[in-house]
Parts: sequence; structure tokens; C-alpha cells
Amino acid sequence: MPDLLPDACNIQSQLIRAAAEIVESYGFREIRLPLLEKTELFARSIGEVTDIVEKEMYSFDDRNGESMTLRPEATAGVVRAVIQHSLVHAGPQKLWLAGPMFRYERPQKGRYRQFDQFNVEAFGLEGPDIDVELIAISARLWKRLGVTDLLTLELNSLGDGAGRQRHREALVDYLRGHADLLDADATRRLETNPLRVLDSKNPAMQDMLAAAPQLPDYWDDASREHFETLTGRLDALGIAWTLNPRLVRGLDYYSRTVFEWTTTALGAQNAVCSGGRYDGLVEQLGGKPTPAVGFAIGVARLAALMEAGGTTAQPVADVYLAALGDAADAAAVVLAERLRDALPGLRLVVNAGGGSFKAQLKRADRSGARFALILGDAEVESATVQLKPLRTHEEQEAVAQSALADTIRERMQATPAAA
Ligand code: ATP
Ligand code: MG
Repeated sequence: MPDLLPDACNIQSQLIRAAAEIVESYGFREIRLPLLEKTELFARSIGEVTDIVEKEMYSFDDRNGESMTLRPEATAGVVRAVIQHSLVHAGPQKLWLAGPMFRYERPQKGRYRQFDQFNVEAFGLEGPDIDVELIAISARLWKRLGVTDLLTLELNSLGDGAGRQRHREALVDYLRGHADLLDADATRRLETNPLRVLDSKNPAMQDMLAAAPQLPDYWDDASREHFETLTGRLDALGIAWTLNPRLVRGLDYYSRTVFEWTTTALGAQNAVCSGGRYDGLVEQLGGKPTPAVGFAIGVARLAALMEAGGTTAQPVADVYLAALGDAADAAAVVLAERLRDALPGLRLVVNAGGGSFKAQLKRADRSGARFALILGDAEVESATVQLKPLRTHEEQEAVAQSALADTIRERMQATPAAA
């Protein structure tokens, strides 16, 4: 469970803020849920024979002897809340949430035991228009974060009903016929969750799996139409996609559309955003039949991509205010608060702990600030301040305190932020 230090937090916050702003511009609203749910919720929704439920959950008995689990994913809790509060009663619901998930996995780069996700879930909409919207949202976020070129969209449909059942039977027959090639995981899943065998990463099984019965060959007409409308609209939006007939997602509750944005820039942990339809889940958990679709972004993985794309943590300060002498110290506080009134977004650090101007300017430099403001006895006397650019070779200049806010606003806009 990693500690997120300030630089890492800063990049992740840039991500969450951008994502929240974008989804809210599409009419999604935030929901916040407990990190802890009853264990049975996850067993019933995710499925007993998934990696998550079989071996990744942090579960414990509470003081009442009831088994509780730190949420390994968000969807089950959202569905529980939607049912419990009759949210779809009032019509479709478009929700987002961000926060930590917990999975007992082997920690490695891009894979942690506590990790944040940004989740989007829409209820009561059959699609494919909403499927298109979710993918458009994700594509817009990649653009905003400068990572579009690092990501590829893979799509599939799990189909529905009888077709899906026929595929399952054909797949099980095929896999039984190749029992000698199955590894231990696949042998176990063959009887319980055969679809999952399809997305095995075991190199020794790839040729055999490539020739296995493919989901698209078993799509019913409605599923095919759903898929074709979705892909036609993505084409119209200029969002490139590829069909991956073996994309199944790890969770049992998906149906029809499944998608994944993957990257080659992060090594083995290549999935950055995964989503799909789970039309059966609300009913399965005791609600009225309600179609639903959502996606989850792995925040740390996307943040790593942002860094690969050139994003850096924002500096501590835009402006660093240095003051020397009692009178200047006193004036500095007043001046700083006035600047904060006039420029609410300004990151302004006032020197604390004294020190010579030289020492203070060193701190100013380390803060990443673009400008130092210097206030000594002479400046207090003349109601001015010295404005010193720290990232360019421009000369220091005296500015009247009354004009300081305007000057800083102009100078900040004129010179773009350092990388
Ligand atoms: P993977 O195949 O990498 O195990 P998954 O299918 O288990 O991923 P999901 O349950 O779909 O992942 O979760 C959505 C996203 O959350 C993933 O695409 C990934 O970016 C991120 N994620 C999943 N597990 C972890 C983890 N242990 N640490 C960090 N990020 C994770
Ligand atoms: Mg996993």
C-alpha cells in the first residue's frame, strides 16, 4: 500500500480534477460511498470464481461476527446504493466516484494493494448512445491530459442470452478437447468461469486460444446491432478502436459492450481504463431490472502515463514573498493577504522563519516560484515592492504596492508557466 508523496499526489489531483470537470460537463454527479461493505455483496456481484473474490479481497469479521470487506472495486457498492435509495425511481442516473480500492495482489510497478480509481456508472440507459458517451468522455480526458497517443481502445461484445450460452458450451467443449494445453488456472476455470480462460496471458496457451470459439460468432441480432451502432458512432467521432474478440473483462456481471484502453508505455500493467455494460447486475442484487454501464480508470497508471506524456507536478508556489526586518515582516503579511483577496488562485508563499535575503531567495528558487517579491525597509518606506523574475533573465523592477496585483496578473499571463 503505497504512500503518495506530494509530487505524486499533485499529478493525481490534476487528473481527478480534470476527470471530474469533464464528467460533470456531461451531467454526471458525484456519489460517495463507504470503503467497507458486507463480504456477501462482492461474492454475489463480482462472482465467486473471479480473481478478486477468490484471492484478492481484504475481508475480516467485525465485532458482531459479520464478514466485511474493504471494497476491491466500486460497482458493487454503487449498485447497492442505487437499489437501497431507489435512485432510478426518478429516472436514469449518471454517477461518478473516486477513491481507494483494496486488493491483495502481488505488488509491483502499476499494481498495488491500495490504489485509487476514478469510476463512472450510468443506470437506466440501454445504450448504445450512453456507451458512446462514456467512451467519448474517456477520449476527451486523454486529450486533456496529453496522453491520447499513448492509448489504444479495444472493444468487444459479450453478446447476450442464448448466444452467450451457446458460446459458453462451444468454448467448454473446445477447451476440454485441449485439456493437455491448459495451465492450472485455466483447468480450474474451465468448469466455473470458462470465459475467463480466453483472456489468459500465458504465452503457451495463446495459439490454442486464438483458435477457440469467438464471441462475435455467437452474437444475437440485437447485440450485433448494438455493437455496430456503437462502432459507427465512434467512427463518426474519429475515435479509433479495434475489435478484440477475446476481451472479456474479469468480472462476471458484464454483458454486451466491454472495452479497455491499453498502453504499451507502462510495461506489463497495460490496462488504464476498463469498462462495459452490466445490464443484469441490478436485478441480480435485488433491484428492478435496470440496464447499466460504467468504466474504471486506474489513477496511478494514468498518472504514470501523464508523466510519460510530459506532465510534471505543479511547483509549490507561483510567487514567493521575501521580507527582511520587523517593519517589512509586518507589512508582508498585510500585502500577502491583499494579494490573496485580489488573486484567489495565486499560489503565494510568504517566507517564514527569517533569514538573509540570499537565504530567502534560495528558498524562493526551490519553491519553483516564477517571481520573488522582495520587501525591505526602503520598500516599506516607499510603498513599493521589488518584483524579481526567477525563471527568466528579465531585470528586477520596483512596483507600487497598489499596482502589484494587476502587475502579477499580467506577468503571469504573459510568461507561460515553467514546464
Ligand atoms: P489487471 O488486468 O491489470 O489486473 P483488472 O482487470 O483487475 O486489471 P479492473 O478491475 O478492471 O482491473 O480495474 C480497473 C482499472 O483499475 C484497471 O484498468 C487498472 O488501471 C486499475 N487497477 C486494477 N488493479 C490495480 C492494482 N492492483 N493497482 C493499481 N491499479 C489497478
Ligand atoms: Mg486484476
